[in-house]
Amino acid sequence: MFDSLSDRLADALKDLRGKGRLSDADIDRTCREIRLALLEADVSLPVVRGFIAKVKERAKGAEVSGALNPAQQVVKIVNDELVGILGGETRRITFAKNPPTVIMLAGLQGAGKTTLAGKLGHWLQKQGHTPLLVACDLQRPGAVSQLQIVGERAGVKVFAPHPGTSIGGEGQLGVTAGDPVSVARSGVAEAAAQHHDVVVIDTAGRLGIDQELMKQASDIRDATEPDEVLFVVDAMIGQDAVSTAEAFQDGVGFTGVVLTKLDGDARGGAALSVREVTGRPIMFASSGEKLDDFDVFHPDRMASRILG
Ligand code: GDP
Repeated sequence: MFDSLSDRLADALKDLRGKGRLSDADIDRTCREIRLALLEADVSLPVVRGFIAKVKERAKGAEVSGALNPAQQVVKIVNDELVGILGGETRRITFAKNPPTVIMLAGLQGAGKTTLAGKLGHWLQKQGHTPLLVACDLQRPGAVSQLQIVGERAGVKVFAPHPGTSIGGEGQLGVTAGDPVSVARSGVAEAAAQHHDVVVIDTAGRLGIDQELMKQASDIRDATEPDEVLFVVDAMIGQDAVSTAEAFQDGVGFTGVVLTKLDGDARGGAALSVREVTGRPIMFASSGEKLDDFDVFHPDRMASRILG
């Protein structure tokens, strides 16, 4: 996804190579090119502005000393600042002292939440956890059975209302089909009863932001008091990634971000801006449709990948 950004940054930094000393004009020119490369990759404007200001200040103030030549010094500064906008340290899941740990997924329809629930369940299981996936996307036709299929593939149990039947009230699980809040609550109770130590709640999205969506997500959050709310965002949606993240942050609030579809060929810079814009860390990255196309997000590794 970041190939063209990588190429542009490499080009911008290439001109500095071999120079014994860098003038302010050299740094200004390089920063202009880096700025263009970032904007072209769709990194959001305020993020680019802040980034360039820091790189410029540090590059101009850099002491010519140590093992790095001036060009390498600038590359290091760009790398450090890139790691900075991506969140610095890798942020891991905070597990509850008293299980089950509740992880709620939120995001637009098509962002990749249901797929992610399977991947996350699979990953948690590999880490020695005993996750339960809870199907609360009762909006999108087929989302419940999709989660069941994904869960089966991952070998992870799924808690779901029976399709088309009301099993609330008189039903033994006390779940009202069609009421995602009640499904979420019952899913967490089921996890506690069956000794699952983590619950992953898949929720409904909409094609765009709307109040009903925010209300439903907030109600599920209030009913289950999640330890983590992960905002799932498709890296292919460009600048909308930032505005959607801001809307979810205001409407529901989240503790971390998951970037999906990093295998796509769209410009993914907007998604890279989400951490800086919302102040919430990118925790996981998904890069394909297979269960294993998923990993913890490491800001330093992503920065190295981008810088080539
Ligand atoms: P939801 O509406 O948020 O639950 O989204 P889904 O999980 O149904 O995903 C929407 C589409 O994106 C499906 O066709 C998925 O197979 C696909 N998808 C999800 N994650 C990825 C990813 O990381 N890479 C690619 N290429 N496709 C993905």
